[in-house]
Amino acid sequence: MIIVMSRQAAPAQVEAVAARVREVGLRPEVSVGEDRSVIGVIGGNAYAYREVFAHLPGIQEIVQITKPFKLASRELQPRDTVVDVGGVPIGGDRVVMMAGPCSVENREMLLETARYVAGQGARILRGGAFKPRTSPYSFQGLGEAGLRLLAEAREETGLRVVSEVVTPSDVELVASYVDMLQVGTRNMQNYALLQEVGRSGRPVLLKRGMSSTVEEWLLAAEYILSQGNRGVVLCERGIRTFENSTRFTLDLNSVPLVRELSHLPVVVDPSQGTGRWSLVRPMSLAAVAAGAQGLIVEVHPRPAEALSDGAQSLDFDEFSRLMRGLQRLEEATAGQPA
Ligand code: PEP
Ligand code: MN
Repeated sequence: MIIVMSRQAAPAQVEAVAARVREVGLRPEVSVGEDRSVIGVIGGNAYAYREVFAHLPGIQEIVQITKPFKLASRELQPRDTVVDVGGVPIGGDRVVMMAGPCSVENREMLLETARYVAGQGARILRGGAFKPRTSPYSFQGLGEAGLRLLAEAREETGLRVVSEVVTPSDVELVASYVDMLQVGTRNMQNYALLQEVGRSGRPVLLKRGMSSTVEEWLLAAEYILSQGNRGVVLCERGIRTFENSTRFTLDLNSVPLVRELSHLPVVVDPSQGTGRWSLVRPMSLAAVAAGAQGLIVEVHPRPAEALSDGAQSLDFDEFSRLMRGLQRLEEATAGQPA
């Protein structure tokens, strides 16, 4: 349920309503808008309590949130959330490029890649240090040594850093090195991990589970938000379908759909989503045209030598071509409605 305060409501009236919400054992989520404040009422059958609040001063209306996800819902918060990733806003006017290798392999390749993508306009460096590989015999990542290299690359280039965390007990460690925690597709329904990244207070890049519906994905976001962490960035990365000529099917329907359903920013990972480097540029452009507010792309100095996901990694020339394509798209659509 949400309580919409009237335009004239004084801050003290908003606080009095929030206090009454707490008194009846529910949780208020106050969102102060430019125009008016709204209070999300979270817990049990909140709508059954609506009469308790009806007479309090400053309230304009009480609305039931019909969706199963509440804090993630546009019904609760009509305006877009902008997530601040170490000073880089995701969800604002600019499309944010996150780029880097699938895995941090060694110092040289990481710094070489970081310097290149920074020079081309990327704002955030990606790179896995803890890798959830399909096979236990594949490269599992450098662990904390990889995180140290990411921190060094951040120091040198000014890029912010995103990296995956695969287990709740590593959240504190990974959060101490990165600007944004990544929850991978294989862990989207690892609820203990979602709660732990929620408690960390760090922004979270939440990949869509490869076999999850949009509703399940938004409910996973709800786990993080319900820990008091508002910094959730949703990432569409492709789903399993009967189609096997690409690694996954990049579901771009979800981008405008999620933007309708939720106020959270949505970004797209066309590297995992296609599994083929040659499809990454066209699908990146399509993602932005569909309303994606950022992209996360795998880039490797020598994709043929990559220890993971070489087939879907862009080399430097192709990355620069992608950045030029995005620039042209931005110019072509400037000032036009999305
Ligand atoms: C990755 O970003 O390299 C990755 C493993 O992503 P996903 O969880 O989407 O497969
Ligand atoms: Mn990868």
